[in-house]
Amino acid sequence: MNPNIFKNINLFQYVTFESVAAYLDKCQKKQLQVGDILLSPQKYNQNIYILITGKLRIHLNSIDTQPLNVIDIGECVGEMSIIDSLEPSAYVIAEQHSVVLELNQQTLWEMIDGSHTIAKNLLYILSCRVRHGHGVISDGIEVQKKLQHDAMVDGLTGLYNRRWFNEMFKRQFKRCQTDNIALSVILLDIDYFKKVNDQFGHPIGDLVLIKISELLQRCLRSCDTLARFGGEEFIITLPETALPESLIVAERIRVTVSELSIQDNAQEALPTVTVSLGVAQLAEGDNKQSLIKKADDALYQAKDLGRNRVERYRKV
Ligand code: GH3
Ligand code: MG
Ligand code: MG
Repeated sequence: MNPNIFKNINLFQYVTFESVAAYLDKCQKKQLQVGDILLSPQKYNQNIYILITGKLRIHLNSIDTQPLNVIDIGECVGEMSIIDSLEPSAYVIAEQHSVVLELNQQTLWEMIDGSHTIAKNLLYILSCRVRHGHGVISDGIEVQKKLQHDAMVDGLTGLYNRRWFNEMFKRQFKRCQTDNIALSVILLDIDYFKKVNDQFGHPIGDLVLIKISELLQRCLRSCDTLARFGGEEFIITLPETALPESLIVAERIRVTVSELSIQDNAQEALPTVTVSLGVAQLAEGDNKQSLIKKADDALYQAKDLGRNRVERYRKV
């Protein structure tokens, strides 16, 4: 074997060529064409393969997925399935035309029995595999967290979205109903928002949504919940809050929005934006939908009565 290649083999670091020459004589070289599958979880493996030329890649569940890792010259594959006598945990495929040195199980164990250095090298190789595995798991957890976050949070305003709200409200409604806790719902809709878009463009409409979202967050207690319910519609729930108090909260929001100054990118102040709000309190016989419907009816009333106002639900 070419000494330069031998020098690069992880398994033989700090090992002299002479001490393993006899073992290497017993090994076969195997040629792989691009796409050839060297190891697969479906095929029992009895060899460790050292990459002499070319490049291999590792796939976890299927060869169609993103590769988990690539194997460069001097690295080996197959050692795990030899040690635990189980099927390979992944697919190993030739990324390029490659040549591998095939050491069978028995030869490997003989080498380990005969050399502490080779045993140590193998431990090092395995610890790199475990460390890389941990990295992949932790990246996976991060991706999962991000997906979970994105599924619950509105990308524009950073507020919880309707999907999150529905899940949260299910539990909150039940708790308030069972424990006889007051619960109020406020639905808020921006007035004539279409005009903002039409007159100033969609990005300015987006800016208004962001600014109003920030304002709403500032106006509420930590136990209140706020979500973007639809395009320019927001929903607020106030636990342990009866109608008179929630009407005060709604009115405070209305006034604060009407006093809000929003500037465009050129620092030009936009015309005042107003909101209409409908408020309802959980009453006997209500379910989740009927309570929200009451707040929506009240919002409709507020719009009907001229906008920029708060209305409470009234039985008709
Ligand atoms: P009203 O006072 O009756 O509520 O009138 P409105 O114009 O606010 O109501 P309408 O339902 O006619 O229009 C709502 C507009 O909100 C239309 C839609 O394009 C806009 N909109 C919804 N989501 C977004 C968004 O994410 N960004 C922007 N810029 N506009 C949005
Ligand atoms: Mg509107
Ligand atoms: Mg609307």
